[in-house]
Amino acid sequence: MMSARNDMPYWWEAAEPAEAATGAPPARADIVIVGGGYTGMGAAIPLARAGREVVVLERDRPGDGASSRNGGITSGNIRHSFSSLIEKYGLEQAKAFYAEGVVARQELYDFIEAEKLDCDFQPTGRFSGAMRPEILETMKREMALLHEHIGIEPAIVERQDVHDEIGSDLYHGGVRRADIGGIHPAKLHRELRRVAEAAGAGIYSGIGVTDIRRIGSAFEVTTPKGRIQAAHVIVATNGYTDKGLPWLRRRLVPVISEMIATEPLSPNLMQSLMPKRQMHGETRQLGYYYRPSPDGKSILLGGRRYASDADAARERLRQGLIEIFPELNDVKLSHHWFGFVAFPMDQLPKLTVHDGVVYATGFCGSGVVWARWMGMKAAALVLEKEETSAFYSDTLRRIPFYNGKPWFLPVMMNWYKLKDRLTGTMK
Ligand SMILES: Cc1cc2nc3c(=O)[nH]c(=O)nc-3n(C[C@H](O)[C@H](O)[C@H](O)COP(=O)(O)OP(=O)(O)OC[C@H]3O[C@@H](n4cnc5c(N)ncnc54)[C@H](O)[C@@H]3O)c2cc1C
Repeated sequence: MMSARNDMPYWWEAAEPAEAATGAPPARADIVIVGGGYTGMGAAIPLARAGREVVVLERDRPGDGASSRNGGITSGNIRHSFSSLIEKYGLEQAKAFYAEGVVARQELYDFIEAEKLDCDFQPTGRFSGAMRPEILETMKREMALLHEHIGIEPAIVERQDVHDEIGSDLYHGGVRRADIGGIHPAKLHRELRRVAEAAGAGIYSGIGVTDIRRIGSAFEVTTPKGRIQAAHVIVATNGYTDKGLPWLRRRLVPVISEMIATEPLSPNLMQSLMPKRQMHGETRQLGYYYRPSPDGKSILLGGRRYASDADAARERLRQGLIEIFPELNDVKLSHHWFGFVAFPMDQLPKLTVHDGVVYATGFCGSGVVWARWMGMKAAALVLEKEETSAFYSDTLRRIPFYNGKPWFLPVMMNWYKLKDRLTGTMK
């Protein structure tokens, strides 16, 4: 029944990442950026535009990481609810975190428009479904707080109106956010790279950084293709951080996020399942995010992996799709793929400097808005601009008993699964 092509992201049919320069990088640069995803490009553009000599070193092809594999939902999500952030950090800091998400999302939209980025941007809105009636009540309280303190204007959707948002009986109401939309992730990356190259950034493929050493006030960056002296280094490797970056590796947990795409559905079926062609999320710990393809013909659904075997993982996503839309029981899948996202200990995005190296990372699966934004903030640090980020921190905590191999992930996933079962939100 299933014919999903393993590992090939749906998005690559239209915009597969392309090789960049493969020769030896220059021996000197003002700034070396390690990692060529949204974060790397987000940093490269303002630095190159400021006249700096920028070299982006990418281990694979630029964009091969999460930046061409994601769901393309401009959630700008923060893992913690606003109320829990208030409890932990106080009202002012919680406001600063959430307000920055609003600004960052709008800035992405403005950049797409100003630079005429061809990335299928669709400001459709997003509906988040409540799995139980009491969860809808919690969502209402949360949205009232966000409205009061941040000015976000979410629309509460009561159970009887859910079918205006989605052709599913699964949800007990939910919240619609008009400010969240969708982009084609691989096209967005391709366009950011185009802009970075046009600004003069040198982008290199197939060059994995194996060491970064501080020499006085400068740095020596080691690669299999030679050493580079640089005045500054920005690390933008997020969920793909490898052994060449041991300090960061001990501070991030890489987690697999994966997606399936259905074969094209009939226009009538799409209309009944996704009448607004908008983005979707839900309130479970291990819930799904899903959306129509930009051409409105297929449904793409993603979630975190907790089955070790790829076929079982794909089947779990398929079951999730059918739970939401039983009509899709016999539908064929055209694609199944995965990528890595990164979680720091406190599950908040991070901008930090350690031993002179700037790190922008830890987007917890929501980097469409955050990654480029934090890359820009990293660039601002290098350019000594006064711009700040609420996520700047002097420290990025090491995860105890951890050297980069997340041995505890199965336990955590089972804990989340159990929580979903206990709250009656997952079978
Ligand atoms: C399946 C999936 C669905 C997602 N859906 C969404 C979504 O709908 N909305 C949302 O907001 N976010 C989503 N995300 C998250 C989002 O894609 C990421 O947060 C974002 O792309 C991170 O960008 P980045 O540039 O920091 O990292 P990446 O794009 O992962 O790039 C890091 C790069 O660093 C390179 N690298 C690593 N080590 C080295 C080294 N030593 N030397 C040189 N290069 C190195 C890697 O090869 C990689 O290309 C999703 C992610 C996945 C995987």
